[in-house]
Amino acid sequence: MFSLHGGRKDLKIGLELTKYPTVRRAILYERLRGNKVRCLVCERRCVIPEGGFGFCRTRVNIDGDLYTVVYGNLSAIESRPIEIKPFFHFWPGSTAITFSTWSCNFTCPWCQNWSLSKCAPPIPGNYVPPEKVVEEAIRNGDEGTCVSFNEPTLLFEYSLDVFKLARERGLYNTYVSNGYMTEDALKMLRNTGLDAINIDVKGTKEQVLKYCGADVDKVWRNARLAKEMGLHVEIIVLVVTGVNDDENSIREIIERHLKEVGPYTPIHFNRYYPAYEYHEPPTRIEVLDFAYRLARREGIAYVYVGNVPGHPGEHTYCPNCGELLIKRWHYTIVKYRLTEGKRCPRCGTEIHIVGKYVNKARLLV
Ligand code: SF4
Ligand SMILES: [Zn+2]
Ligand SMILES: [Zn+2]
Repeated sequence: MFSLHGGRKDLKIGLELTKYPTVRRAILYERLRGNKVRCLVCERRCVIPEGGFGFCRTRVNIDGDLYTVVYGNLSAIESRPIEIKPFFHFWPGSTAITFSTWSCNFTCPWCQNWSLSKCAPPIPGNYVPPEKVVEEAIRNGDEGTCVSFNEPTLLFEYSLDVFKLARERGLYNTYVSNGYMTEDALKMLRNTGLDAINIDVKGTKEQVLKYCGADVDKVWRNARLAKEMGLHVEIIVLVVTGVNDDENSIREIIERHLKEVGPYTPIHFNRYYPAYEYHEPPTRIEVLDFAYRLARREGIAYVYVGNVPGHPGEHTYCPNCGELLIKRWHYTIVKYRLTEGKRCPRCGTEIHIVGKYVNKARLLV
């Protein structure tokens, strides 16, 4: 019942850890022979020996059972616009109480959030009860919640509790994710109140395996499953210089998008900036332009370019007549022109948007 874990030589792994509110029995795991456990939260499906941690360092085997050490162990909590996630077709103009923990189940060397994702969570950390998150949202006037900044799947047990309370109070619930949870985890999230998920597709099969240590087929499976379960889905592609910025990779991702989630699921091509252990120059604008044009030509109705303020790909256009419908400036809505019935004012085409438009700027005057 005593073990050492790299860099935490002072930490005793035993049942005494469970006295902390941030250490809770996990929900999805199975017991194996020899006091090992298999975590069933994400597709890594780590087999963890007694006293050991899973790959993501948020789950530990104590005495033959699996525990999360990040229940309410938050690295950040703040109100943020939904467009920043980015969600462009879900409760436009609204804000969501956004929270995160530490670490990740992927290994992307260019991680744009590495200060949170690349370190092990502190134990016990600072505990924030689920009720506190929901109260904070209500106090701020937020319309929903969002688990973001680091991989939300690692907050699985905690998100279930927050989502349940949030839904009771009429708030929506969202994930900004790499989409690597198991089917069981995704179904439980959906059943307790997840409304929308934004899934980061990091490249082709080979690229995701090489850089992120993951199987992109599982990511696309979840994107498709989420749609089938009635969740709102948007796909994000961070176009990384020297990784997935060539014509073939972009073409492959667009084809896969059409096949798995169809033409009405929004896709965002985001500009990468050098970060963490990856130092190639930022994505060339011509590459983003190419991806934008190709995706539209191939029939995706809602295509966006992100992290390039002032780019025409920040706006929503009518897929039928080309009319500019939602004008944005770097994730802020400047003009919203849809009719009450969410139609193009010029040709009447229905635009796929979930939830209501919230004009916070107007509320302030
Ligand atoms: S959440 Fe994923 S990476 Fe973390 S312990 Fe479970 S299976 Fe492993
Ligand atoms: Zn990452
Ligand atoms: Zn139109």
